[in-house]
Amino acid sequence: MSEVVTVCPYCGAGCEMVLKVEKGKVVEIKPLEEDDNFLCPKGVRAQEFIQHEGRLRRPLIRRNGNLEEAGWEEAIDLIATKLASLVAEHGPDSLGFLGSGTITNEENYVFQKFARAVIGTNNVDHCATLCHGTSVAAMTQALGSGAATNCFEDIPKAEVLFIIGYNPEASHPKIFERRIWKSKWLGNKVIVADTRRTSVAKDVDVFMQCKPGTDVVYLNAMANVIIAEGLENKEFINSRTEGFEEFKQVVARYTPEYAEKISGVPAETIKEAARIYATSGSSAILWGMGITQHTHGTDNVYAIVNLALLTGNVGRVNAGLNPMRGQNNVQGACDMGMLRTVYPGAQPVDDPKVKAKFAQLWGTDSLPDKVGFASTEFIPQALEGKIKGLYIVAENPAVSHANLNEITKALDQVEFMVVQDLFLTETARYADVVLPSCSWLEKDGTYTRGDRKVQRVRAALPPLGESKTDWEIISLIAAKMGKGSLFAYTNTADIFDEIGKASDKYAGISHARIDLEGGIYWPCPSSDSPGTPTLHLEEFPRGLGKFTPVDYVDPAEAPDAEYSLILTTGRDYHHFGTRVMTRKVAFLNQESPEAYLEINPEDASKYQIETGDRVKVASRRGDITVTANVTPDILPGVVFIPWHFAEQPVNKLTNDALDPVAKTPETKVCAVKISKC
Ligand code: SF4
Repeated sequence: MSEVVTVCPYCGAGCEMVLKVEKGKVVEIKPLEEDDNFLCPKGVRAQEFIQHEGRLRRPLIRRNGNLEEAGWEEAIDLIATKLASLVAEHGPDSLGFLGSGTITNEENYVFQKFARAVIGTNNVDHCATLCHGTSVAAMTQALGSGAATNCFEDIPKAEVLFIIGYNPEASHPKIFERRIWKSKWLGNKVIVADTRRTSVAKDVDVFMQCKPGTDVVYLNAMANVIIAEGLENKEFINSRTEGFEEFKQVVARYTPEYAEKISGVPAETIKEAARIYATSGSSAILWGMGITQHTHGTDNVYAIVNLALLTGNVGRVNAGLNPMRGQNNVQGACDMGMLRTVYPGAQPVDDPKVKAKFAQLWGTDSLPDKVGFASTEFIPQALEGKIKGLYIVAENPAVSHANLNEITKALDQVEFMVVQDLFLTETARYADVVLPSCSWLEKDGTYTRGDRKVQRVRAALPPLGESKTDWEIISLIAAKMGKGSLFAYTNTADIFDEIGKASDKYAGISHARIDLEGGIYWPCPSSDSPGTPTLHLEEFPRGLGKFTPVDYVDPAEAPDAEYSLILTTGRDYHHFGTRVMTRKVAFLNQESPEAYLEINPEDASKYQIETGDRVKVASRRGDITVTANVTPDILPGVVFIPWHFAEQPVNKLTNDALDPVAKTPETKVCAVKISKC
């Protein structure tokens, strides 16, 4: 029996766990005691899918329309030849590279380096574009950094928690159970704004139940109340911000009474929330995809940042701005430059000095210098015949992206597609080559959890079958394409050392240091820096924090006589992502076997629907059939379906209209009609 300490493969809460290993199997998973002694039902069973019969054990190559087993050499040879010929024929931007918030920092770093230094394109992206891309965009503009400003340990210590469009019980069970409940128990105040009365919204000080897509209105109205009642932090505004006067003029139009008409939140409730948020000793805002997945998601985040600047609740401990990152390493994937706009360390791809720095570090003079396409743009580009090839690592756009009929059409149409994953996912079924990658239990490296803490991932088992780690696979392809010297790593510590040279934020962190001291918060610029749990204590990276006035804009699709209900989507407590992993865990499937429709009793009675009835739900883009769950926790006129389930894929219905800045689709609002089956 041996023990290995590592990090959970699922959510951005980043629980550390102890694996008990016996005779080549993980026989038990326990929480690391110093880490709050908590694991949710997903984490405690996270070994159960590892030896599942469906795990890919050998590469697959499509022959005569079918995926057939092949050897590694043949698969690598085919990929290298095909990628080189597509680049030669159509140019490097004819290829798109989709990394992942579930693979390690080292793997994302190597993958984006391959796309840029070997292929020559900035068409690199990962799931951040679907979730917190709008948070990164707005926070970078307003503060100079797109990351969470405070650490998770601060959450129970904030005198006020303002939770917006975020269901912590489903998204980050540990944050819900160990941080937010502790905060309530300590007597701190909690405000929740959401379309659904989620578990966290029960028994709170203020609950603002808003119509989907109206967040800018009630957030601006809170600012209106704070200024009207003289509750703003004048000293902070004067010394640390700019743009206040223009902001003040815009929010003057957003009276609580006007906001009530648009958002449905009573004016008195908005006033109460504003007073509580502005007058505490410290207030923290936590938000999720209820805020970000809109055509105006970037504006929503600007409105949140404005509130923190107005009250001086950023750049302080126990306060701050916290976009709650969904997947375990989505923050790390952003940090590693798995984005179309930036190299590792959030350094812009269109800055010549940055390009020169990476050309020198990587020993190549052929780096691209224009911003690439987002993953949500790969699809229209593929349908137009401009993107000819896709390389996808541990992502499943055939379930996770909006308007799935268009996605699957595009996946079918691309000339060449490679997928690296654990299982033959819905996306991998469209691929020309499928490569078996190692699971979290079979690899070494780091994840960066949602609050910027860099933690060690440690292998407990050897690779299953012939599977390889993602960084090894990419290095083999690079070598076959004549660029092996750029990827001459012997292990993941080597890769991490190069990451430290690429990004000042990671410069003082090493595998050895984390092994000795535990996880470290970036920025950590030198080996004697303790790391930085709280950002912006003295100043913002852009200097002054910038107020950005925003006006309310309607969602892209409104209900009408035919499609009279608003559909919104979200997570379920028992599942993760597109269920690539949780679908293989018996307990989780027993607890939550299929998608469901939450509907208010008023609407249910109109359609004569009861809990347990089968209901067809249709939008202008497609239809699915799900089981009804009648609940007063959702507003009349609004229905909810979780997005994890490939068998009832709600993204067949969702709208692929994009936020113009972050290119995030509006999966939180679309118009639907329902009928009882
Ligand atoms: Fe894993 Fe998140 Fe559950 Fe912790 S809360 S055990 S990180 S899924």
